[in-house]
Amino acid sequence: MAGIWVFAEDLEQTRELLGAGTELAGKLGTKLAAFAGDGELARQYIVFGADEVFLLPPLAQDQPLEAYVPVLFEAARQEDPDVFLFAATPRCKEIAARLSVKLNTGLCSGCTGIELGGGEQLLGMERMAYGGAAIQRVQCTMRPQMATVPPRTFEPSVAQEGRQGKITELKTSPHSEVKVIGRSPRQRGSVNLAEAKIIVCVGRGVGKPEDIQLARDLAEVLGGEVGCSRPVAEELNWLPEELYLGISGKKVKPELYIGLGVSGQIQHVTGIRDSKVIFAVNQDENAPIFEAADYGIVGDLYQVVPKLIEELKSALKG
Ligand SMILES: Cc1cc2nc3c(=O)[nH]c(=O)nc-3n(C[C@H](O)[C@H](O)[C@H](O)COP(=O)(O)OP(=O)(O)OC[C@H]3O[C@@H](n4cnc5c(N)ncnc54)[C@H](O)[C@@H]3O)c2cc1C
Repeated sequence: MAGIWVFAEDLEQTRELLGAGTELAGKLGTKLAAFAGDGELARQYIVFGADEVFLLPPLAQDQPLEAYVPVLFEAARQEDPDVFLFAATPRCKEIAARLSVKLNTGLCSGCTGIELGGGEQLLGMERMAYGGAAIQRVQCTMRPQMATVPPRTFEPSVAQEGRQGKITELKTSPHSEVKVIGRSPRQRGSVNLAEAKIIVCVGRGVGKPEDIQLARDLAEVLGGEVGCSRPVAEELNWLPEELYLGISGKKVKPELYIGLGVSGQIQHVTGIRDSKVIFAVNQDENAPIFEAADYGIVGDLYQVVPKLIEELKSALKG
């Protein structure tokens, strides 16, 4: 057995993959390896569960991250890992796809569950299909078994101070036909929905852009953030695109999700169903959001929300 390998862009993502890999490596009786750009990070990965860390050569200013494809290819060709997991970020997905072609193996993209799936140490890998309406279970009979794993799919590994591991320098030169000719930071709002504990989500049931203030007021009382359904961002352009939740938007796991005038179509629910508590206000008692909800109020949000805010304010004061 040549190990479980994980590749991500930062410590947080790597810890999540190490979290998934630790259990697998234990069951398969193999080592767990990660990739780091410098020695300090490499030592941290060892503390967080890696048995071995491959030290990547530095990239030139004009090289994109995908220039690591030949470096990873050479390492995989020599070491023959059993499993290779990547964080499902845009840049890592690009690397994983290119590498799987070069290694002539399969790639399970957007993998949301991994377990040992029967004989010959094959993994059973799960991913969503048909816009989240079905779960697809796939096995890859080629080696390495590769997957990209969305952020927050697995619990991050925990630090074990004093853990020892090996650091191996990789010598292959990074190379890409693509050259970076400039970098400019992406304009982002200050809201990070992925980290929010409480999200108040507005749907098309909110009739006018100025009425989003109702959701903002509710979010403020609760110390939460405002998100929205896709049409509110993409069709109506009432809120920025980075705030919409769902299969093609942000996938979130807050303690509390509150949907106001959200119908709850599968493409939306797929992004919010891991919330601890789902609460919905909708005037249509047959709205699908109520099937996903733990609590709901059938009613006009324009009447319900101000009362909710009032009640919460007096409850929180007392
Ligand atoms: C490939 C694909 C990907 C998609 N990805 C996403 C995605 O990532 N995220 C996403 O959100 N959508 C996505 N969609 C769109 C999705 O299918 C739905 O169309 C969308 O989620 C509906 O948004 P909504 O609930 O805001 O609007 P509607 O479906 O129009 O629902 C509005 C709701 O508000 C209620 N309502 C109206 N007035 C009031 C009131 N006064 N008080 C209380 N309730 C009221 C209505 O009863 C209704 O249920 C995708 C679609 C496709 C085809």
